Amino acid sequence: MRVSQFEPSIGQEEYQAIQQCFDTKWITEGKLCKEFSDKLLDLIGCKYGVFANNGTLSLYMALRSLNIGPGDEVLVPNFTFIASANSVIMTGATPVFVDVEEETFHIDLEKAQRQISEKTKAIMPVHIYGTSANMKKIKEFSEKNGLKIVEDAAQAIGVNWQGDHCGSLGHVGSFSFFADKTITTGEGGFVCTNDEKTYEKLLYIRNQGRINRGSFIHPEIGFNFRITDIQAAIGIAQFGKLPQIIDRKLEILEIYKNNLQDIEKIKIHQPEKGSNHVPFRVAITDSNGRQGLMDHMEKNNIETRTFFYPLHLQPCFSKLDDSRGYLDGDMQTSVKLYKNGICLPSYPSMDNEKVEYVCKTIRDYYGLQ
Ligand SMILES: *Cc1c(COP(=O)(O)O)cnc(C)c1O
Repeated sequence: MRVSQFEPSIGQEEYQAIQQCFDTKWITEGKLCKEFSDKLLDLIGCKYGVFANNGTLSLYMALRSLNIGPGDEVLVPNFTFIASANSVIMTGATPVFVDVEEETFHIDLEKAQRQISEKTKAIMPVHIYGTSANMKKIKEFSEKNGLKIVEDAAQAIGVNWQGDHCGSLGHVGSFSFFADKTITTGEGGFVCTNDEKTYEKLLYIRNQGRINRGSFIHPEIGFNFRITDIQAAIGIAQFGKLPQIIDRKLEILEIYKNNLQDIEKIKIHQPEKGSNHVPFRVAITDSNGRQGLMDHMEKNNIETRTFFYPLHLQPCFSKLDDSRGYLDGDMQTSVKLYKNGICLPSYPSMDNEKVEYVCKTIRDYYGLQ
């Protein structure tokens, strides 16, 4: 048996959905984008939203819509996909890395407080592995320090904090629909906000600095971050499956929990109280270090992944201006997570037999029945 890390749940529904674009000959942004956007806004509970080509550009637009740019600093958790930080760099601002909490994997606000400077303009909570950051504490922190909140909710469709959907709790929220996210359009992103002025900025940035297409007078400098109705057609079909996708991911998580809970060395990542869980990944830590177990899995044809490499150690960031030492600040937790963390295979079409095979292989590694 070969078990891959992930497979997107695409099939007949998506295939049929894109046919209508060809039948109507409308393939650029049109009524399907509007329909998909309405569905997303309804779920997220935000007034306004725009699409982007991917989650990196949606974060970039989110930051730009809050006027973040050269000379500014943005607090970014040290444990996240690199796009969170690169979107900040793309605006001309500097990402300042902050270690995370060992239990939650979310940004450590005590350590964040020590990284605040005159230049700090925003904090970017990342709702990692389908669990919400503690948005109550993030809001208190941002109010105290006069910061904007840009939520990186790329991994958090379906995730909420005390009933409010991730992406609606800060000033602006960003989602990704890349192939391995909970729902996908191949590539794609979405930015949402409840603030009309921010929304207007987003419209200018994404559509050549004008509100309407077809006019050649451009009040602002903007770009082209539009998507296609073909993507939206796929997105609508995926959105329809979201409840089943979430249910299945939770069932898989449950099987993992039931089969692994007695292994002392292994801990399964859980959300903190206040957040639900849409297990984007089944993330576990092995207190012995991950490598032995990962090698054992590979030998048994199971594809695992490490956690994210700490941002402050990324070769590409060694050139960042670091006059305040944030590149080698106290990052011990994110370093430890990288040493111990493994993402187990989990995707909706993964059958129970496969999940049980993965569990059996892990138990086998620990000499357990
Ligand atoms: C996937 C992801 C992104 C970037 O999204 P893309 O669509 O791949 O550009 C940003 N942040 C996090 C946390 C992600 O998981």
